[in-house]
Order: sequence, then structure tokens, then C-alpha cells
Amino acid sequence: MARIVMKFGGTSVANLERIYNVARHVKREVDAGHEVAVVVSAMSGKTNELVGWVENMPKVAGSNAPFYDAREYDAVVASGEQVTSGLLAIALQSMNINARSWQGWQIPIKTDNAHGAARILDIEGADIIRRMGEGQVAVIAGFQGLGPDNRLATLGRGGSDTSAVAIAAAVKADRCDIYTDVDGVYTTDPRIEPKARRLKKIAFEEMLEMASLGAKVLQVRSVELAMVHKVRTFVRSSFEDPDAPGMGDLLNPPGTLICDEDEIVEQEVVTGIAYAKDEAQISLRRLADRPGVSAAIFGPLAEAHINVDMIVQNISEDGSKTDMTFTVPSGDVDKALKVLSDNKEKIGYDVAQSESGLVKVSVIGIGMRSHAGVAASAFRALAEKGINIKAITTSEIKISILIDGPYAELAVRTLHSAYGLDKS
Ligand code: ADP
Ligand code: ASP
Ligand code: MG
Repeated sequence: MARIVMKFGGTSVANLERIYNVARHVKREVDAGHEVAVVVSAMSGKTNELVGWVENMPKVAGSNAPFYDAREYDAVVASGEQVTSGLLAIALQSMNINARSWQGWQIPIKTDNAHGAARILDIEGADIIRRMGEGQVAVIAGFQGLGPDNRLATLGRGGSDTSAVAIAAAVKADRCDIYTDVDGVYTTDPRIEPKARRLKKIAFEEMLEMASLGAKVLQVRSVELAMVHKVRTFVRSSFEDPDAPGMGDLLNPPGTLICDEDEIVEQEVVTGIAYAKDEAQISLRRLADRPGVSAAIFGPLAEAHINVDMIVQNISEDGSKTDMTFTVPSGDVDKALKVLSDNKEKIGYDVAQSESGLVKVSVIGIGMRSHAGVAASAFRALAEKGINIKAITTSEIKISILIDGPYAELAVRTLHSAYGLDKS
């Protein structure tokens, strides 16, 4: 007997037929004698629709605040998961399985106060553990918790992954299975590169980079939690026949295991390629080159919650002036330009220029720590395809390259084959 947390994403619960299919996956584990908790997302497209409704509501009259009340945003968007948790509980009951739905506040899953992007602080798992022991399946609404203000809070887009891993840690599950519409983590997004290969295992650090650099298969925070709490996490498909051979394998279920790097025997130099669309570049021209200038720029941007990523600084020939270029999400450009112009005197720049619709393509692999020349191969491969590089950043295990949007797919495929990832 094991304790298993099973999470099903939006496409896996897209309609009643798919919800019934999910119930069959759950039944398989229950019939095998395991204790099971299930975490569900909203039906695919639902959260986008709910977010769209909120964004189209009128803003406060006379105020120039670009925002709506984030607590009401949470009240609206958390509803998608409430629906699927109830429907799945009903589907399970129809199969004579003892099941009930749980909303985040009922458990409770306690979060901080950052509405719209809350972090889980604590999960009261005792009641669920007791009921699982009595044979009841907990069907938990993902993506949502309860803030310190006693109001619904959501965990940011893709947050049901984080709900699942956090619950797995709280109930000390033997395994957390993230069921989605692909059968594992691939060397790159299989929708862009059909030659992408499924990885049997991927190290936590690599998955963390893949997720933060745009591979949306897992939310970044879920990987952090899995790493810290040592949750045995698999990414696998809900689209396979629930009763196909091997689907119920306890130790080696089909899919990709996210694990410690020492568990991976044959470590490649490069493990995967990720990409993030909708990046924008802002350049401040002719800044005074003096101590404190970076603080004057990035301090106010941070206060405005604008996520600055790649930063490049150039010094003019005589050393007196500098240009600063950095990237922000395209959606934040206007806000960033406003913050910069409000602080123009303090920063002391000549002009601010911006360009949207850029893409960041990244090469990721733990093996880079001990291999030279990995970056050079990327630059060569992109040059051969005539793809211009706008900015580069590197860390121990990744290289990120900023390029023009229309070249995204070509760049991903080019890098994927440059490192031989399409060959098994
Ligand atoms: P869910 O609704 O189940 O949470 P998501 O759409 O959030 O599913 O994540 C699954 C998607 O992630 C896949 O359909 C795939 O297109 C995308 N993806 C991006 N990069 C990768 C990768 N390296 N491996 C697998 N899937 C990836
Ligand atoms: N439904 C939420 C979203 O679309 C959470 C999730 O699916 O993980 O972002
Ligand atoms: Mg997701």
C-alpha cells in the first residue's frame, strides 16, 4: 500500500468524458489498495475565460490605477477548480468510490497575502490523512488556498502543479503524479519540435531552469517544493488507457521522474531547450556612469513588481556615459516605461527605447558545469541560420539568448539538433 497524490491539468478534465476518464485512472490506484488524494485544475480554457472577464470589468472611476482588486480576481478565477473538483467527486462516486471534494479553504491550504500569485505557507493535512486512512479519496481544487485575510488566494498561472506537490509533501505521499497532455518531460516542447525525445529522468535543478525559462509543463514553484521536500514527482499522460499494462506500476510508472542528479546515470551535457515568448527589451541611452545608477533604475522597477531579467551594460568610448539594456515581460513594458520616466531625473538618462515581441531561447544542462564550448556551439548554430542575437546571459547550467520573435521556432529546432537532442 502506498500514498499517492494524482494531479490532473486542464486538458485532462476538459469535458465530462475526460473527467470520467480521469476517474478511471483514480480507480486503478484505489483498486490497487493505495491511499489517494487527487488535485484538479479547471477545465482547459476556463481560467483564461475567467481572467478575461475580470480584465474587461471597468476600473475605478477617476483613478488611474491600472489594476482591479486582486482579492476579487482570486474570488473569480478560483471558481474553475471548484467546478472540476465537484464533478470528479461525482464521477468517482458513480464508480462506487468513496470520494469528496475539498476547496483550498476547507483543508485549509494557508497562503501568504500576495493575491493572484500567492505562496503556500502551510497545509493542515491531518483531516485528509485520517480520511484517506478510512478509504476516502480527497478530490482537491488546485490553484487555490486561503490568505491570512481569510479570503481566497490563487497561486499564479499553472499553480495546480504546486498545490499537488505541496499536498504530497504535507501528507508525506510516496509519489506525486502530474498527469497532463504529454507523456513526460521532453528535450524541448514537443509541440514545436516533433523530434523532441521524452526524458526518463530529469534533475531537479534542470527542471527548475526549464520551468523558469518557459517550459510550462510544470510551474516553477512546484519544482522548488519537490526539490526541498524530496517529493518523488512524475510527469505522465492522462490520455493513455488507464488500464494499459504498466500504468499502475508503483516504482516505475510510465513518464518522467524529476529527481536528484545522482539518480541519473548517463548525464548528457545538454538536457533540454526552453523558450519564453513575449519578452521585451528596454534600453536607456546615455546614462551617467556613476555608482548607484543601477540601483536608481532597478529599485523603482522592483517596487513596481516588474520582473527584470537579462541586463546588459555598455560603456561609451570615453567612459563617461553608459547604455543599459534589460528585458521585461512584454505585458509590463508600458508600466516599466512609466516608472522610468517618473524617475528620469533621479536616474539621469537621455532617452528610453523599447522593443516588444522578442523571444528568449535557453539551453539547459547540468553537464555544462564541466564542459567548455557549449555556448560557442549555440552561437555558431544560430549564425548559420542567420538568426541575430540581441542579448546573452549565462549561468552554470544554462545559456539564454534573446532573439526576434519570428525566429523562435527555428531557433529552438536549430539548437535542439545542434546538441544532438533529436538522436536517441
Ligand atoms: P496542464 O494543463 O496539464 O497543466 P500545461 O499546458 O500546463 O498542461 O503543460 C503541458 C504542456 O507543456 C504540453 O502540452 C507542452 O506543449 C508544454 N511543454 C513545454 N515544454 C515542454 C517540455 N520540455 N516537455 C513537455 N511538455 C512541454
Ligand atoms: N487553472 C489554473 C491555470 O490555468 C491553474 C492550473 O491549471 O494549474 O493557470
Ligand atoms: Mg499546467
